[in-house]
Amino acid sequence: MTEVTTYRTRPISDQPAVEHIARIAPDALAVVEDALNHRIKGVLSVVVTDTFGIVRMGTRAEREAAHVVPTLWRRLTTHARRPVGPLYGRTAIAPGGLLVLINARPHHGDLAAVTTTLVHEFVHAVQLSRPGARTKRIAQLRAEYGLVPMSRAARRAADRAVDRDEVEAYALEPLADRL
Ligand SMILES: [Zn+2]
Repeated sequence: MTEVTTYRTRPISDQPAVEHIARIAPDALAVVEDALNHRIKGVLSVVVTDTFGIVRMGTRAEREAAHVVPTLWRRLTTHARRPVGPLYGRTAIAPGGLLVLINARPHHGDLAAVTTTLVHEFVHAVQLSRPGARTKRIAQLRAEYGLVPMSRAARRAADRAVDRDEVEAYALEPLADRL
């Protein structure tokens, strides 16, 4: 079974969310894994942070996982779709595993909402653990940083995959009611 570690980068006010996540994470992961009939292997870290931390840590984890040299700070293309509205969370591939980032502030201390976000992001974690998904994500990242070319068709396919993953993640959010 994957061990989930939880910590925070921001002030003590985020501590209740951290403790809540640490308490429910094993069950949340099991519920999501059962629903998707797939188990995550490797390290799964959950970090409670802010918007800046999500962008910075998520980008760094993905860069390191995809072996993008640190000098290439800026993506040359930004085709990856991101949901509109407040950034509640993000799941990134990381060296040796996956990194789930939870944005504490937009939850306003609502721990039930934190549970829903955690379930949503754990769906993305399982999606990134499916056979071939990590390799595909690394190829996509390397294309985004301009290291390898990406055809328009491949770009459109990647966008469609992002949309499909989002639909699946939203559809499974009600699993949070079981936690
Ligand atoms: Zn999502």
